[in-house]
Amino acid sequence: MLLNAVSSRIDEQSFAAVAEAGRRCGLPVEEVDPSAVPAHRPLDNDRALRALHLPAEAYLDARRWLATLDAALAALPNVTRVPTGRLRAVREGYQLRGRKTWLTAPTLVLAAGAWTTPLLDTLDPGLSVLPVVAAEGTAVTVTAPGPLPAVLRTPNRAYACGLHAVPQVDGPWYLGAFAAPALAPGAEPSAVGQLHHGLGTARVRRLHHGNRPVGLDGHPLIGPTARPGLWVATGTHRDGLHASPLIAQELAAAILRDSPGPFLAPWRPDRGPIADWTREEAVEEAAVQHAALAAESRMRPPLTSPS
Ligand SMILES: Cc1cc2nc3c(=O)[nH]c(=O)nc-3n(C[C@H](O)[C@H](O)[C@H](O)COP(=O)(O)OP(=O)(O)OC[C@H]3O[C@@H](n4cnc5c(N)ncnc54)[C@H](O)[C@@H]3O)c2cc1C
Repeated sequence: MLLNAVSSRIDEQSFAAVAEAGRRCGLPVEEVDPSAVPAHRPLDNDRALRALHLPAEAYLDARRWLATLDAALAALPNVTRVPTGRLRAVREGYQLRGRKTWLTAPTLVLAAGAWTTPLLDTLDPGLSVLPVVAAEGTAVTVTAPGPLPAVLRTPNRAYACGLHAVPQVDGPWYLGAFAAPALAPGAEPSAVGQLHHGLGTARVRRLHHGNRPVGLDGHPLIGPTARPGLWVATGTHRDGLHASPLIAQELAAAILRDSPGPFLAPWRPDRGPIADWTREEAVEEAAVQHAALAAESRMRPPLTSPS
């Protein structure tokens, strides 16, 4: 983890928080000389001032994981996969348009990410469910400018997940990720001297674009709605992949006992918005994040002197 010059005070706080969390959890955290970090060849103006080596920090190639999940689903006898479909409510429960016919079930879990709100509106416009908005994300896979033995990343910064380079099993680097809040999901993406100046000539092998689903109050929506048999599971913003095994386990148990239980209770889709901050605290946080965004965008405020 690199603390570089293209940053603001919140990067320092996040950098310190990562070191503290690692130590508190008994994980190895070693401060190292940034100039000795493998695969780190920044422009001089962007160079890291400090670096942490976190040898226990794992990462995975998401393509492999998704392929594994697809294979596991394909092996299940009671799973029917259909293309993006239409939904409707009927006397027996809910119907999803399959390839040729309608599939009927008494229980429906709507896990449609940033598309959840429009789908619910078609199903039951009067249903009270906290809106799900989108945090659009764009990342690229590029030809490797050199070997990358482990993840290189900055701390989280300016509303986003920081800059990170993740090695892919077949050699290229995944570089992520931009974040842009949006009321509705977008269909297209809206490109790096900080990590390795060789990236300036790297070829883009693949452009990734996705819509992270976010509950309007920033928290997930997981649990039953006021409509019998209709459940929602989404709103996990940047953490849905990591949290998915736990969510699946808790959701399956809740559906079987027909009650959300204490773990899911705070995330009821029909809750009022959770307020984590006072209005003044939210305004102050936004100002700090904007200042960090300005620093990362290399904006220089005018120099002023007392008159
Ligand atoms: C660039 C990027 C990087 C990320 N990195 C991480 C990470 O490192 N770790 C992590 O934990 N999370 C990460 N995430 C977040 C994670 O991807 C999300 O939290 C998670 O995918 C949300 O799951 P979901 O099921 O709610 O929505 P989605 O994964 O968006 O799934 C919704 C599905 O519903 C389908 N759908 C929509 N409408 C219909 C319809 N009418 N009929 C049928 N299907 C429909 C969509 O096609 C989609 O497949 C990242 C996201 C992005 C964009």
